[in-house]
Amino acid sequence: MRAWAVVETGKPLQEIELPTPVPTGRQVLLEVTHAGVCHSDLHIWEGEYDLGSRGKMKLSDRGVKLPLAMGHETVGRVVSWGPEAEGQGLEVGQTRIVFPWVGCGTCARCRAEEDNMCANGRSLGVFQNGGYATHILVPEPRHLVDPGTLDHALAATYACSGITVYSAINKLMPMDPDDPIVLVGAGGLGLQAIAVLKALGHRRIVSVDVSAEKLEAAKAAGATDTVDARGDDVTARLMATCGGPVMAVVDLVNGSATARFAFDALGKGGKLVQVGLFGGELSLPLPLMAMKAVTVQGSYVGNPKELRALVKIAQGGALPPIPITREPLAHADSALMRLRAGQVTGRIVLTAQAV
Ligand SMILES: [Zn+2]
Ligand SMILES: [Zn+2]
Repeated sequence: MRAWAVVETGKPLQEIELPTPVPTGRQVLLEVTHAGVCHSDLHIWEGEYDLGSRGKMKLSDRGVKLPLAMGHETVGRVVSWGPEAEGQGLEVGQTRIVFPWVGCGTCARCRAEEDNMCANGRSLGVFQNGGYATHILVPEPRHLVDPGTLDHALAATYACSGITVYSAINKLMPMDPDDPIVLVGAGGLGLQAIAVLKALGHRRIVSVDVSAEKLEAAKAAGATDTVDARGDDVTARLMATCGGPVMAVVDLVNGSATARFAFDALGKGGKLVQVGLFGGELSLPLPLMAMKAVTVQGSYVGNPKELRALVKIAQGGALPPIPITREPLAHADSALMRLRAGQVTGRIVLTAQAV
């Protein structure tokens, strides 16, 4: 198979030839038709995360091996499967969304379909080859979801940005539909979060970003209010926009600056759900944690149950599409660089030549 792979961290992706996997056991081989380019691919490509005063965490220390075909927002067509996947309803040519956040497959969390919380994560596009390739090997049939009538490029984005925001929003619910929910970041994840909130019937959505263009896109997607995160009085402006201290924030950027203004804006019993991987750190004033009884909670992608639930919501027609730019798979590197330069509104989805 051909792959557009990270061969050296921080260097351009290279088109390389890899052996096309032969599925064994419960594995399923798909031909990739769509592969979304996600911001977290940039961190994998750079090979490290910024842990603030704790230094850098290297992905190679976590077991990421190169060359690696990144890509964890994949849709493809079923090609073949191992003998133990027989009788699972697979047919050659079926189009399926690939759930990428796979684990060991045998622990209690994996068996409960909370694969993303497995202690031995083996995510596709991170620890194993993903969708920036002509083929992708999936551990078992339950990691495949039928996109039905959905646009396949859009459906690909549900595997990461979709379930990431859906899972984070679920951690805030239930909430009164007219209480503000603040979304920090109006990139691909931010627009997806607006779409999911609208589909769930939420009416007050406050989008925060440093880019006027992205805030514009957030408005167009249905944000009721926007706050420009440039300048140093963001907390005050955020609280003024929300009509007082904030009860719910999803920080899709999650860097030192955004975490600080989001935390400072929280009211009594407020909740900050941290999703992004921008990096840095947050120092917490401990008495305020207790006195304000606030919650700071992390959220990491989502599970197969959430992917199926989200696809169902989308199939009901309630989920407005995010802006998608289609490009050939061979443009993986330039797509990644444009994302890095902050020049992408919505999502770039790479497509196989024949699509
Ligand atoms: Zn992602
Ligand atoms: Zn496991």
